[in-house]
Amino acid sequence: MKVVDHLKNAKDTLFSIEVLPPLKGEDINTLFSHIEPLMEFKPPFIDVTYHREEYVYRKQENGLLEKVTTRKRPGTVGICAAIMNKFKVDAVPHIICGGFTKEETENALIDLNFLGIDNVLALRGDAIKSEGTFIPDPKGNAYATDLVAQIIDMNQGKYIHDTEMAKTTFSIGVAAYPEKHFEAPNLATDLKYLKKKIELGAEYIVTQMFFDNQKYFDFVELCKKEGINVPIIPGIKPMTTKKQLTILPSIFHIDLPEALSEAVMACKNNEEVKQVGIEWCIQQSKELKAKGVPILHYYTMGKSDTTYKIAKEVF
Ligand code: FAD
Repeated sequence: MKVVDHLKNAKDTLFSIEVLPPLKGEDINTLFSHIEPLMEFKPPFIDVTYHREEYVYRKQENGLLEKVTTRKRPGTVGICAAIMNKFKVDAVPHIICGGFTKEETENALIDLNFLGIDNVLALRGDAIKSEGTFIPDPKGNAYATDLVAQIIDMNQGKYIHDTEMAKTTFSIGVAAYPEKHFEAPNLATDLKYLKKKIELGAEYIVTQMFFDNQKYFDFVELCKKEGINVPIIPGIKPMTTKKQLTILPSIFHIDLPEALSEAVMACKNNEEVKQVGIEWCIQQSKELKAKGVPILHYYTMGKSDTTYKIAKEVF
């Protein structure tokens, strides 16, 4: 079933999660064991992230370093199929522009279609870790708008080289940033492109994590004013370590409220931080739920224990 239909049919706020594929060589059962306890809260769908290639340096026999390309967390499509098979829920693979030609994207979408997966989250993706800026593949999509357009074309039977092909039935979600995408010159410009993604055919939005609900509420209002009227799913995550005080703002370009950062700084160890993070996330979740958000989407980072404790208090 499509994400938007789950939302339409819901009588109350739903619970959903995002998981990461295991690191290359790890057992899929580790991921399953994290998802298993969370099934108690009946997620209608589970998102699976996509991880682009990275450059790493490997030592050769002659002692010299060789630069090789590797994908540390492969398997998104296979994991989606495995999750659907094991847990009987819908899986939403993230599809990114970075590192793919349009032809490769088309082939991946054909695989998904054959597997009966009809939800995708269409994203641009970030720069390769060791590169400062995002460089699209010369034969690939440069922005999420281009990727949305390619998927909508396939839904209409228009493939790259041919028309009147089998129509796919993908429902497309896209990302948005209540605190602005870090490359956008301002929020208004960012919203202009977000609106374009919706006008092209995306049916719902998932937000970047935020720790201050007011930012989400203000963003939803702004979207409405701009004529963006699709469901806006709040994505949230509990803080779990002191390091995240600097890591989260630097990776995700978000602010942490002073009350939260002060509480985390006062913690003696990460066990205490976890407790603070869980409490904060419970309060966030309860407020969002009270305001009638369609679903609460938790970034689990592949670990279920904290999300479980939060969901137990909220659902
Ligand atoms: P876009 O919508 O393409 O926007 C990128 C920037 O370009 C923005 O500044 C925007 O204002 C601007 N822009 C957009 N369209 C145009 C246009 N047509 N012309 C000119 N400028 C434009 N990354 C991964 O690698 N894998 C994942 O699985 C993943 N999952 C994510 C899930 C969520 C919910 C979120 C919020 C992010 C996720 N990301 C993931 C990160 C995401 O790929 C990055 O934030 C990336 O930098 C932007 O992706 P986007 O789809 O929002 O890009």
